[in-house]
Amino acid sequence: MSVVSEYWPLVLETLKSKVSESNYRAWFAKVEFVSLDNQGRKVILSVPSAFHKKYIENKFKKVFQESINKYYPQVIHIDYRIDVQSLHVEEVSQDVLNLDLKESEHPIAEKKSTNTSNKVDENHPKYLPAKSINSLNPKYTFDSFVVTKNNEMAANVAGGVVQELGKLYNPLFVYSKVGLGKTHLIQSVGNKVLENQPNLNIKYLPAETFVNQFILSLQNRETSKFRDYYKDVDVLLVDDIQFLAGKESTQEQFFHIFNELQQANKQIVITSDRSPQEIVGIEDRLVSRFSMGMVVDISGMDLEDRLAIIEDKILRAKLPLTTEQARVIAEVKVANVREIEGILNKVKARISFLPNRNFSDEDLEIILQGFVANTDFARVGTGFRGVAQNIKASGTTPERIIDAVCKLFTLQKSDILGSSRQKDISLARQIIFWLYKNDLDLSYPVIGKMLGDRDHSTVMHGCRKIEELSRTDLKVKQKIELTRQNIQN
Ligand code: ADP
Ligand code: MG
Repeated sequence: MSVVSEYWPLVLETLKSKVSESNYRAWFAKVEFVSLDNQGRKVILSVPSAFHKKYIENKFKKVFQESINKYYPQVIHIDYRIDVQSLHVEEVSQDVLNLDLKESEHPIAEKKSTNTSNKVDENHPKYLPAKSINSLNPKYTFDSFVVTKNNEMAANVAGGVVQELGKLYNPLFVYSKVGLGKTHLIQSVGNKVLENQPNLNIKYLPAETFVNQFILSLQNRETSKFRDYYKDVDVLLVDDIQFLAGKESTQEQFFHIFNELQQANKQIVITSDRSPQEIVGIEDRLVSRFSMGMVVDISGMDLEDRLAIIEDKILRAKLPLTTEQARVIAEVKVANVREIEGILNKVKARISFLPNRNFSDEDLEIILQGFVANTDFARVGTGFRGVAQNIKASGTTPERIIDAVCKLFTLQKSDILGSSRQKDISLARQIIFWLYKNDLDLSYPVIGKMLGDRDHSTVMHGCRKIEELSRTDLKVKQKIELTRQNIQN
């Protein structure tokens, strides 16, 4: 495996030639590569302040994305980590800071409020986030986690862990099939601990990130730093541990870290897509460690579970659906919560495209019909209630398609809905037509209506063109594949 960070200086070189020297020094010179994630589709960068992030996003979004893609062609998402410790205010030239800013957004203001004992540690490896970064997503909380029969045990145990950190269940091992709330729950633990004890060193990370960091530490001959970094953690939350399967040296490293933390009564929470015993390619001694504390699973949902989740999500999103409509959605035998979110996103999208009237039963029927695509669904009855039965959901929604294509082409949604015929906007728009048709099974008139009130013949023409290009043009084929992969993640 090559060192993925080694291309970063080339990205910076490209930027140097595209922006002014003072802008380069002020905004990009301190942007550091942290890691690639999500199979190379997401790059994680460290920036000195929230202000840097905002400024880069506002002023240099396109040129930055293009420069990154020159060397990391698969990256469609840029994730920024704020590293307050690396701020060198004196090096930010004054001319570019002469802007109309709120004091709280200003890097100098930030510097003043930063504890000066937080010295820059020159020896800290770039691929390990600063101690202050926990990587938790604040939206994953116990409050937004709906407790249903299938997850009740896992939710209770996770709550108990927060009450008695490191003592009650250590480690806690949660497993389930995809989309049933593992990431949500493990991060809820982190967010709750952060709320109760903000001084603790909490680290959340997918096991994939752990593997990548470890490889980089090997390549840099500093595995002891890697180990020291994790020994210092108070709450370690490792998501999707099955990713360690077959990676022996990483497992060995993890084994030592695990033991040290556990002996020091530091809390460890692990998730996986299967039980410890079922993960093939994980050493026995790790499997037995995983089973030492509490192992709990989240099982599939029945009608009642689905209904509880749907009602909660409808309430939170303030969607104007009737109780009966919620029930009909619950009858769709989706496999997981992510698919429920998929249906509700479709509902939301449709409501936003039809501002002048209520969301009707027919609207819901059209949405649920969309889930029939590509399945051997035998229609048991017709109409409003009929479609809900035996439908397999795919997780693809109109919104996700637009978002994914816009990201890939670095366009705005308004470009798609607008009338520009610029080459890449037209192509992106036609790919969206085609995906709406193929993956959502929507009709030409409906697609036209949803995408800027276009005539059905325009949509049909676009779909035919992409159908042809998807077979003859490798680039178009790749764009479609990337979009689909991105939607499924
Ligand atoms: P997993 O990690 O098991 O694949 P996630 O935690 O990513 O699943 O859950 C998928 C989506 O469903 C997320 O958006 C999450 O917030 C949501 N979700 C899962 N379970 C629940 C729940 N019990 N209550 C509310 N939202 C949930
Ligand atoms: Mg997950």
